[in-house]
Amino acid sequence: MNLKPPPKVCTDLPPEIFRQAVAQADVAISITDPQANILYVNEAFARVTGYSPREAEGQNESILSNHTTPREVYGAMWAALAGGHPWTGRLLNRRKDGSQYLAELAIAPVLDGEGQIAHYLGMHRDISELHSLVSQVRNQKALIESVVDGAPVALVLLDDQGQVMLDNQEYKKLVADLRVAEPAHLLLETAVPNWREQLLGKDSPVGFPARELRIDRPGGASPRWFSCSALPIATLDERADGFYEESLRHYLLLVVNDVSALRQGQEKARLAALRSLMAEEEHAAAMRESLSAAMFRLEGPLNIMSSAVGMLRLREPAMASALESALGEGRAHLEELRQLIPLDTREAMAPVNLNEVLRDVLDVSTPRLLANGITVSWQPAPTLPTILGRPMQLRSLFKALVDNAIEALSQKGWRVRELSLSTALEGALVQVCIDDRGPGIPAELRLKVFEPFFTTRGNQGQHLGTGLPRAQQAVADHGGILELLDAPGGGCRALVELPLEGEAE
Ligand code: FAD
Repeated sequence: MNLKPPPKVCTDLPPEIFRQAVAQADVAISITDPQANILYVNEAFARVTGYSPREAEGQNESILSNHTTPREVYGAMWAALAGGHPWTGRLLNRRKDGSQYLAELAIAPVLDGEGQIAHYLGMHRDISELHSLVSQVRNQKALIESVVDGAPVALVLLDDQGQVMLDNQEYKKLVADLRVAEPAHLLLETAVPNWREQLLGKDSPVGFPARELRIDRPGGASPRWFSCSALPIATLDERADGFYEESLRHYLLLVVNDVSALRQGQEKARLAALRSLMAEEEHAAAMRESLSAAMFRLEGPLNIMSSAVGMLRLREPAMASALESALGEGRAHLEELRQLIPLDTREAMAPVNLNEVLRDVLDVSTPRLLANGITVSWQPAPTLPTILGRPMQLRSLFKALVDNAIEALSQKGWRVRELSLSTALEGALVQVCIDDRGPGIPAELRLKVFEPFFTTRGNQGQHLGTGLPRAQQAVADHGGILELLDAPGGGCRALVELPLEGEAE
């Protein structure tokens, strides 16, 4: 085997090599005496300053000064050098032709055998272009920040962990308004429930364009509407290890436009229309129920008459036949009455947000609540998935339950007039609690109240006792359950649980 001898380590390079190395180095090098009088400059010095070695040598380094560098900089420089320490810094220099440049300079004292400063070694390079680039970046950053800050929409940039990297004044206002730690997270969760997996840190994430989101706030504050867009952004990784192998850093820009004012106007109009539609519905339902009740009550005497006819047929045939024809007429009138019952038109199933339904019910009920001095505590789940249901039927259902609660609280002399509504997501169920601080329903009547035409409120013509059976029917139509319980603070709790998917028949 032919082994190569190891390279010789040369500790005593000939001085000529050092001279050539300095002469050919691509950085401006000068060697001065202790007063900064130039003794030697290399070619690169000539290229940078415009002074040839012959012109520079014998001059003082101060020929390079533009006389605009602050005195303190020179003071610090000379103080370091006088103490025998190297110094690095930036000076504004002037070339032979009068043009200026920014020099990044490193000066090191060169000591003689007795440790005295014999010379200074200066090395500098023109960093004007770098400075200009850095300034441009800084200016652009300042410009972008002021544009972002002045934008009339909330802007927030999240990194691949969901941390806020940049936000603007409008977003800060949103933090204060919504009183949640990170409104961006709340909005993203409302728009895309598994947003962290879907939108963050993926190689090609897809954002979403203007999507309108509604955020319900606890304590009866009016809901807010936002038009949100999410835009994935990828930038090149600036870290050194990305120099040869480019890697991307992923961000998500969320643009949030508060459209509450616009939507509140639209909401007012919608609620007015809804109020009259619900009033019409209620009217039709009341007619349906009154007629059904009347027919239910008439059926009794007619049945008695029918058995009387049977008994009289042998003994008093004439009487029986007169009664029979009266009975026939009665049945015919009853049938006519049945024809008059307004039809219960079935609406189509659609995705329904129960927070919105309850908000509508509360808005529609506001005049009655105010008139009876009832305070309402509204605790919606901040975000609620939709269920599949009939919006109008659900509104009527919750309106009936709220009406019952208002009625219970409005009794003469009743002092604690508090109503609380809350929604929560419990597994695959949406849970709605309507709690009143009224007298409650005795345990022995809790099942009876669901019987048609049963009422605890006396028969004054106003209470047919069909509200709860109808409500129970509506809940059953949606595959859910309705229970009447003791409210935690006393009074009655109407608990409705509806499955997320709904159960369309
Ligand atoms: P002043 O600072 O008032 O100084 C007047 C003279 O005294 C100058 O000759 C100065 O060199 C000398 N001097 C000042 N203080 C001391 C001290 N504590 N000890 C010894 N001498 C002193 N300046 C630049 O503007 N650009 C350069 O690129 C540059 N390169 C330099 C490279 C080296 C190796 C050294 C040692 C100095 C360099 N200087 C440079 C500094 C320069 O010598 C001047 O101090 C500076 O330019 C200020 O000039 P001035 O005319 O205001 O003179």
